[in-house]
Parts: sequence; structure tokens; C-alpha cells
Amino acid sequence: MQESLQQSLQQSFQKILQIQELDIKMIRLMRVKKERQQELSKIHSLTADIQTQVIEKETGVTEVKKQIRMGETQIKEIQDKVGKLESQQAAVKKMDEFNALTQEMMRTGRERNQVELQLSDLTDKLVTEEDLLAILKENLEATDQNSTLIEKEIHESIEKINEEGRTILSEREAVREKTDPEVFSIYDRLLRNKKDRVVVPIENRTCSGCHIVLTPQNENLVRKGDRLVFCEHCSRILFWQEANVAEGEEAAPRRRRRKSIG
Ligand SMILES: [Zn+2]
Repeated sequence: MQESLQQSLQQSFQKILQIQELDIKMIRLMRVKKERQQELSKIHSLTADIQTQVIEKETGVTEVKKQIRMGETQIKEIQDKVGKLESQQAAVKKMDEFNALTQEMMRTGRERNQVELQLSDLTDKLVTEEDLLAILKENLEATDQNSTLIEKEIHESIEKINEEGRTILSEREAVREKTDPEVFSIYDRLLRNKKDRVVVPIENRTCSGCHIVLTPQNENLVRKGDRLVFCEHCSRILFWQEANVAEGEEAAPRRRRRKSIG
């Protein structure tokens, strides 16, 4: 009875360890996928930024052009007015009327100078803004071309990741079907919690998950191997490595956590 309990638990452990390695692979894979997706969104926001700048600059250029047209209309109106004043002046007989018209013409002349000055400033501004717009558009085009290449590369790598993920999932499902559902559900809950290995060997009286030294009682329970024993500190499931190696005929490939020297 005792023997078979141990055996079945050991078998469950082997399966769970296989599943765990697949899950760790999957977690790493999803991390890479997330990084790649973040790269994608960075590229998108960079392009969107330049697009916004182009649109703003275009609006600016349109506004300057409108102001120039308004100035030109104003100049035309002033010219018409000057023409009218000149013909009026030619027609008047009285000196004071003549002088009044001269005053008016001088005022109109000053107004015209002012508008012409504004127009000249606006024309300078238009040249500058159009130059900037051209640079921005070139920049946008270069960024677009560049990001199209990078995006293609990223999409391809994400597709590969998804493919690899599907393979891992189907392998996992195949092993899970042969695993004790109760042990699996405990494992699965722990994994979702920690996103890291949750079935770990005891190494030098220490939980190799949290690296805290275990009590001798705890260690003995694990060594007996007739029930699941959890680390008192991190709740990971503990197992006795030597026992597994000795007893497991179909020992799963297992990655030991090597202690770093020093
Ligand atoms: Zn622990």
C-alpha cells in the first residue's frame, strides 16, 4: 500500500516535471512575444508622431498661405483706393479739399507699406515652414520604409513564436492527460501564481525555489515521498532528488538548478 502510493506519486512527479519544463519554455516564449509586441507598438507610435508633425506643419503652411492671400487682397483694395483718391484729387477745385485728399493718400500709403512689410514677413515664414515640411515628409517616408521592414520581421518572428507555442501546448496536453488530475490542479494553481518552477528539489537541506533552509521534519516528509509536501516558506512542492533518480525507471529529463560557485 505504502509502496504503491509512493510509486504513483513518483509517477505523477515525473509527469508534472515534464509539464513544468514545457510551461517554463512557454513562459519564456510569451515573454519574448511580449517584447516583440512592445517593439511593434514603439514603431507604430514613432510613425504616428511624425505623421502628426506633418499634419500640424501642413496646417501651418495652409494658414500662412491664407494670410498671404488676405494681405494681397488688402494691397489690391488699397491700390483701388489710391486710384480713386487720385482721380478725386484731379477733380477738386478747392485747396483744402485737395490737402485733405493728400493727407488721406499719405495715410493710405503708410497703410500699404505696413501690409507689404507683413506680406514680406509672411513670405519668409512660408519658405521656412515649407522647408521644414519637406524635411518632415522625407523623414516620414524613411521611417515608413524602415518600419515596414522591421514590422515584417517582427510579425514573422511572432508567427514563429505562436507556432512554437502551439507545439508546446499540444505536448503539454498529451502529458497532462496521463497525469493525476488532483496533483496537476495543485501544480497548475501554483504555477499561475508564481510564473516560475513550482516543483523543486531539495538541495543541501534547502528549498531550491526560495533558498530557505528546511526543518529536518519537513525534509523527512519529502524523503518519504508518500504525499505532497509544500515548502513552508514559498508553498512550492518539494521533491527528493536522489530518490527520484534511484526509483524512476522512466526518469524525465530534468534540469537541476546548479548552484553558482562563490
Ligand atoms: Zn521554498
